[in-house]
Amino acid sequence: MKDSFGREIDYMRISITDRCNLRCRYCMPEGISLVPSEEILSFEEIVQICQAAAELGICRFKLTGGEPLIRPDCSKLVGMIKKIPGTKQVTLTTNGILLDDLLDDLMENGLDGVNISLDSLDNVVYEQITGFDELLKVKKGIDRAVKKGMRVKVNSVLQKGINDKEWLHLIELARERQIDVRFIEMMPIGFGKKSKGIDGNEVLLKLKDKYPGVKPDSSVHGNGPAVYYQIPGFKGSIGFISAVHRRFCGECNRVRLTAKGELKPCLCYEAYIDTKKVLRGLAYTDPRERKEGLKQALSKAIALKPEMHCFEAEDRITEMRQMVQIGG
Ligand code: SAM
Ligand code: SF4
Repeated sequence: MKDSFGREIDYMRISITDRCNLRCRYCMPEGISLVPSEEILSFEEIVQICQAAAELGICRFKLTGGEPLIRPDCSKLVGMIKKIPGTKQVTLTTNGILLDDLLDDLMENGLDGVNISLDSLDNVVYEQITGFDELLKVKKGIDRAVKKGMRVKVNSVLQKGINDKEWLHLIELARERQIDVRFIEMMPIGFGKKSKGIDGNEVLLKLKDKYPGVKPDSSVHGNGPAVYYQIPGFKGSIGFISAVHRRFCGECNRVRLTAKGELKPCLCYEAYIDTKKVLRGLAYTDPRERKEGLKQALSKAIALKPEMHCFEAEDRITEMRQMVQIGG
């Protein structure tokens, strides 16, 4: 379905929990309040939303959170969404801690790709950012996912004075492995406002300095706004997702669903359409009526998509929650 600016909206990011087994400083600071579990959408409710979305042309779904893999039976949900007619792709984004344990199950249920968030390959820095000493498990998950032929992307947020030199080590993951390593600019959402992110262009310049043969890579890598480069001799590509310094709103193709069913047209603003109200309000009515209600809610959210975010003007950002509460 097209939004009011002519953009085709075919991608939905679904937060399936606001809980997490890490405490990344810029995403889930200590003491954050959690959504009561009865307010979190059940798998059946998520599937009903996806079914309605599929009928409107949304064909790619990404499970996120919080940490999606801590929700029991997450792989079952992957299989349930994969079976919806019209679904082309189900992927997930994870911190990777449970990936090694759950990979086989996820693959059996048809997972099409995995994004692993990893901000450092140094144990001390990793623990400083995430609060836990779990790097080894993440590396194991990455290695096994690549070995088993899963499409793997590593996403990294760089911060001044914390992990600003880590790009040098992280890109090495792409040398011998078919992995795309992407640098995501820190967005001024939640504690991201207080963190000092790094301009993607700065990293690109350093990359070109170190590897003068770096070339733009125009092949299609996924559903998102990343711009890719190829380093000669590297199997994977290096990507940049620069929401702050390279506005890509003209290519926006997505809506977001929070764990409690708020359908967000844009990350930057608090506006949302409450799908839980529709789902639970029509829980005992004819399923066709419920689907129509959901389709209307989705159409409304798509119609509400603003032309662009305003990350450059913090006083105009109306989304006040932390990323973990929205679904990154
Ligand atoms: N737990 C999963 C993970 O870490 O991939 C999924 C949820 S997490 C919120 C998704 C992504 O959002 C992570 O890559 C994280 O680094 C990123 N993120 C969180 N807060 C951010 C911010 N303020 N700006 C940019 N990226 C952010
Ligand atoms: Fe958890 Fe992911 Fe947020 Fe880190 S970035 S706190 S792993 S949800």
